[in-house]
Amino acid sequence: MQSNPSSPQQGGSKLNKTEAQWREQLTPEQYRVTRQAGTEHPYGTAYEEFNAHGAGNYHCICCGARLFSSNEKFHSGCGWPSFYDPAEAENIEERVDSSHGMRRIEVVCRVCDAHLGHVFEGEGYDTPTDRRFCINAAALDYRPAEAG
Ligand SMILES: [Zn+2]
Repeated sequence: MQSNPSSPQQGGSKLNKTEAQWREQLTPEQYRVTRQAGTEHPYGTAYEEFNAHGAGNYHCICCGARLFSSNEKFHSGCGWPSFYDPAEAENIEERVDSSHGMRRIEVVCRVCDAHLGHVFEGEGYDTPTDRRFCINAAALDYRPAEAG
């Protein structure tokens, strides 16, 4: 069974697409960030757009799962979208990431395994959780709150 990497047994709940399907669906930057665990440059165009957003929700760019909302958004000054808590914790998975000689917590979409960013704790931000979900803007699909 271990010689069949293209068919992981995940209980059937994971969204699995081929690399070619993701490449077709995503922009090169979105693909690099979400499927190859890349990090976008801080203070980029997508981040500027993020800062200009009003009330709404942030969904996974890959599968559409709701991840964050503008209610938990805060301005950290780090150059990436920052949230102090997920909107839908069940769609967020946190994994220990020991790459680059650091112990960090990687944040991924539980539905489709998209890399979203990292979460940092105890930095002293004046937020209810003292956690900073540092998320790549390229991984987020903003959907404005419906009027009314
Ligand atoms: Zn997803």
